[in-house]
Amino acid sequence: MAEKEFIHLKIKRQDTPESNPYWQEFKIPYKKKHNIVSVLKEIQKNPVTADGTPTTPVVWESNCMEEVCGSCTMIINGKVQQGCSTLVDHCKQPIVLEPMSKFPVIRDLMVDRNSMFENLKKVMAWIPIDGSFDMGPGPKMSPKEHLVAYELSRCMTCGCCLEACPQINPRSKFMGAQIVGQVRLFNIHGSGKMQAEDRIEVMKGPGGITECGNAQLCQEACPKDLPLLNSIGQINRQTTWSGILKWFNSGDRE
Ligand code: SF4
Repeated sequence: MAEKEFIHLKIKRQDTPESNPYWQEFKIPYKKKHNIVSVLKEIQKNPVTADGTPTTPVVWESNCMEEVCGSCTMIINGKVQQGCSTLVDHCKQPIVLEPMSKFPVIRDLMVDRNSMFENLKKVMAWIPIDGSFDMGPGPKMSPKEHLVAYELSRCMTCGCCLEACPQINPRSKFMGAQIVGQVRLFNIHGSGKMQAEDRIEVMKGPGGITECGNAQLCQEACPKDLPLLNSIGQINRQTTWSGILKWFNSGDRE
């Protein structure tokens, strides 16, 4: 049969977080305009491998279907990207699907990205202005700051930058470029500046900016084109200045 009659997939599967991975191949009838998530849904309807063996449906995570939530991030033909925005017609076949390697596998293509959300808590990635009374308008931001903040606010905690970073490995505590970008975002904000020094202190500590190996692969991997390299430079400067000022203000130099 002609190649176009099928979509051929090779999927790395894993039944439990502890079990060994294995590969399965699937062939589903070709239809135009499939994306990776819609192809996985076709397998879910009829979970039979390419050689006709019944199997369990492939497990993956997805939500928004418009490249905003980051949950369907996986490795597609060797490149980390979102299943919702990757069109089958743009992929070489067989399409090879693997879970991200820098996060624990829950099952098949679904991984646990909780470490990223825990890191956001560590750097206080929020503006503490909640209250039951009107605090009036917040401080003004310049258009230049707005521009940078808007770019950084598009981060979807997908993990692509961590997947690409060689410093994210079992021997390192580095939190990754995503968290550096978010520290910059909240430190730019007029009210967020109130916690700027606290965030910089976290960046100076274990897993912070000093553990960045300057591989510079994060920005290229980011599907939202966030200015991650520039953010690493900015936060590096902020941590250095913070250290110098602390030294000047302490009695250490005497
Ligand atoms: Fe994903 Fe980019 Fe955010 Fe990293 S910085 S988590 S690659 S959106």
